[in-house]
Amino acid sequence: MSRTAIAAELDRLTALRLVEEIGPAGFRGGRSATIDISGSVRFVGIAIGATSVSVAVTDGRLQVLALHRTECDVRQGPEPVLDLATKLSRKLLLGSGVDKPLGVGLGVPGPVDFGRGIAVSPPIMPKWDRYPVRDRLAGQFDCPVAMDNDVNVMALGEQLAGVASTVDNFLFVKIGTGIGCGVVANGQLYRGMDGCAGDIGHIRVPECDVPCLCGNTGCLEASFGGAALGREALAAARSGRSPLLRELLERNGTLTAAEVGQAVSAGDAAAMQLVRDGGRRVGEVLTGLVSFFNPSLIVLGGGLTKLGHILLAEMRSVIYRRSLPLATRNLPITMSDAGQRAGVIGAARLVSDQVYRLPR
Ligand SMILES: [Zn+2]
Repeated sequence: MSRTAIAAELDRLTALRLVEEIGPAGFRGGRSATIDISGSVRFVGIAIGATSVSVAVTDGRLQVLALHRTECDVRQGPEPVLDLATKLSRKLLLGSGVDKPLGVGLGVPGPVDFGRGIAVSPPIMPKWDRYPVRDRLAGQFDCPVAMDNDVNVMALGEQLAGVASTVDNFLFVKIGTGIGCGVVANGQLYRGMDGCAGDIGHIRVPECDVPCLCGNTGCLEASFGGAALGREALAAARSGRSPLLRELLERNGTLTAAEVGQAVSAGDAAAMQLVRDGGRRVGEVLTGLVSFFNPSLIVLGGGLTKLGHILLAEMRSVIYRRSLPLATRNLPITMSDAGQRAGVIGAARLVSDQVYRLPR
């Protein structure tokens, strides 16, 4: 670019508050200046989970300045959940010294029509179906808003700030209340034609006829995932297969993945078997994905990864045993590095990409 073009571009970016002079360069009589991304640039990243909301405020380089996570049931519907997220965002923004963000990014646990900024027939959050989430938030914050499903934003976060920062082809698999997969190909998030690429939770698994929230039976997510694990644990407790799970059921009145994790740590054989069975099923689906996609890394995230080594070991053993050697000789399968921050960082990145690219 010519000097004149650079000067004009810097004027434009300065007017947009995206860059600022951070002082003279002390060069040739003060005619030059050092320019940086403006210190007042803020992005908000919101990660809505099935049972929690996390909000982060970042600077222009997507460094997290403040982060807050709170329990919240997504089934309450969009208005109470978005009100809570908005309130938290404003509080964190004020704490960071700036009241208006340049963009707000959002991840939700269901299929998202990325172009329209709405969730479409989301099984675990039915009240959100086609609710205008993006437009509502854009009106409230008066800035661009971008929304995608939770797994895609986690993949973006992991690529920016986690273990996937050095690879261009990887799968981010989230195992939480549901199961999904973010697909990054040639460095770019791959969404598919309608935004539902990687929706692996509803791939059919063999020898399973459990009904799924999507209306079909035998889905991966219906056989393993937070809800399925709780249900299987209840059965193990009631049948007497696991005295420890029965004891935990009597004490807590319910069984969730957390109690199964406790039982696994205590060496309970029935609980360990439940986790191995689940790991095997996820591993079998991932084996198909490895043959199809040839990733150079698989990253695992989501609440159920707290079950730890036993789950990871079972998945690895299935994938390594069943895939062709060429596809797995350089294929690490590892836990997420960015962890719970992956969602909020990825959500902030989602909208920052849009803001920084926006032709105005
Ligand atoms: Zn299903």
